[in-house]
Amino acid sequence: MTHYQGLIHRYRHRLPVTDSTPVVTLNEGNTPLIELLNLPKKIGFDGRLLVKFEGLNPTGSFKDRGMTMAVTKAVEAGSRAIICASTGNTSAAAAAYAARAGITSFVLIPDGKIALGKLAQAMMHGAVVLQIQGNFDDGMRLVQEISSELPIALVNSVNPFRLQGQKTIAFEIIEALGEAPDYHVLPVGNAGNISAHWMGYCESTGQETAACGHCQGHCPYHPAQPLATQRPIMLGYQASGAAPFMRGGPVSNPDTIATAIRIGNPMSWPLAWAAVRESGGWFDECTDPEILEAQRLLAQTEGVFCEPSSATSLAGFMKDVKGGRIRSGATVVATLTGHGLKDPDTAIGQCVQPHRVAAERSAIAAIIERSL
Ligand SMILES: *Cc1c(COP(=O)(O)O)cnc(C)c1O
Repeated sequence: MTHYQGLIHRYRHRLPVTDSTPVVTLNEGNTPLIELLNLPKKIGFDGRLLVKFEGLNPTGSFKDRGMTMAVTKAVEAGSRAIICASTGNTSAAAAAYAARAGITSFVLIPDGKIALGKLAQAMMHGAVVLQIQGNFDDGMRLVQEISSELPIALVNSVNPFRLQGQKTIAFEIIEALGEAPDYHVLPVGNAGNISAHWMGYCESTGQETAACGHCQGHCPYHPAQPLATQRPIMLGYQASGAAPFMRGGPVSNPDTIATAIRIGNPMSWPLAWAAVRESGGWFDECTDPEILEAQRLLAQTEGVFCEPSSATSLAGFMKDVKGGRIRSGATVVATLTGHGLKDPDTAIGQCVQPHRVAAERSAIAAIIERSL
């Protein structure tokens, strides 16, 4: 076997591509599944807790899994430009994959509420960045209108190829564990990712999904033999200020420090509900302080630095462990959707600030002695 060449090459038999499809890849996917050693004890959980660190994708978030498929299919169809609305990570991924393909990317981002690293990526990769005087939901509405009128491919997760690429996370987890976990926990914003996870798990156990047209397990997306015997219970967590799934409908002014999930009108509403209902799972919400505490706890007890939105999965899980809703001894996988370096401002703002100290041995030794 040659070196790893990205998820389309790896899973081409389970994706809508042919041998002549011009694959646009940055070798995304194949991210580490890291078993947490200290945090479970700390929160009083007696099972196994593993994190799928999607922050280690080429642009630092899981969006690369969907974007390799969306841009590949756009190029295959002859598109010369792509467009998306974004809270940040979709625009970073779109810009990078468009650069790779040699096409133009247009990204609509909300005014002022985008993490610094993500903005830098979109700009650096040469996207046409349109900072709109509105939020993500306004941007989403606009790109749907524009892409229906102009010859530009829409690469938000309403593009079905995005979910096809993102479903491969479930394939990797099953390969790593030899079975699906008992629970899968993740943050929910526009809700494409929870839908894609569920699709991947369903296909792996031979269950039909809406995406394969109810093939009863007999279509190219399904492996010849089931690769797992169970599907996980899906738990989707939202930030309290942007929790339409908890409120039962769209939220008009979503607000949270977890900017990647600052979304009031999720596009994959029915698919996400189906994932939770069919798996016997639930949605829940966390406050911003709970999210930041989980982000810090993970960074400081395990050495894993994810962005605030990603930590929502752990914050929610911690709450449900405390509430006794998680079965004792269970194996749990949490998706850490993006890298902590994406949002340095939020990280620095919540930490102990550096000691300002004279460049003298005695001054430094005094601080070290106090901290030992
Ligand atoms: C996009 C994103 C999410 C939300 O995923 P959805 O598919 O919109 O639910 C969560 N965390 C991060 C870091 C993201 O970039």
